[in-house]
Amino acid sequence: MKILVSACLLGENCKYNGKNNFKQLIVDLASKFELVPICPESFGGLSIPRLPSEIANDKVINASDIDVTFEFNNGAYKALQIALDKQVKYAILKEKSPSCGVHYIYDGTFTGQLIPGQGITTRLLEANGIKCFADTEIDKLLKELA
Ligand code: SF4
Repeated sequence: MKILVSACLLGENCKYNGKNNFKQLIVDLASKFELVPICPESFGGLSIPRLPSEIANDKVINASDIDVTFEFNNGAYKALQIALDKQVKYAILKEKSPSCGVHYIYDGTFTGQLIPGQGITTRLLEANGIKCFADTEIDKLLKELA
């Protein structure tokens, strides 16, 4: 079984601030599953580090008010292509990210306010039948795969 994973959760320094979101419990999944790392924002051509971005009115805007929707969509489609090529049916993704968020994203005001919603890549993956779990839902994913 293959699982698509936000690369930052595996320790890759691809986060906007050049750091990562390493989670040992997610790395440990590699003992049972083939993990397929993706970083849509890197795939979309954004630099590391980069300014943080948020979704506002169906666009993605960075902290300097520059529209980065094209880069986010580009990266999402590249992540989807990898999933389709490798026939991956499940993903575990970094909650709250404007690309990878599964249940929550920031509200577009850069004030730290969360709202229910999904990142650009999560939306595309789910629209194509890939079931997405947040990084806080490892147990739920394992139950689904049992
Ligand atoms: S785009 Fe996804 S994988 Fe890349 S740094 Fe952001 S949350 Fe992590």
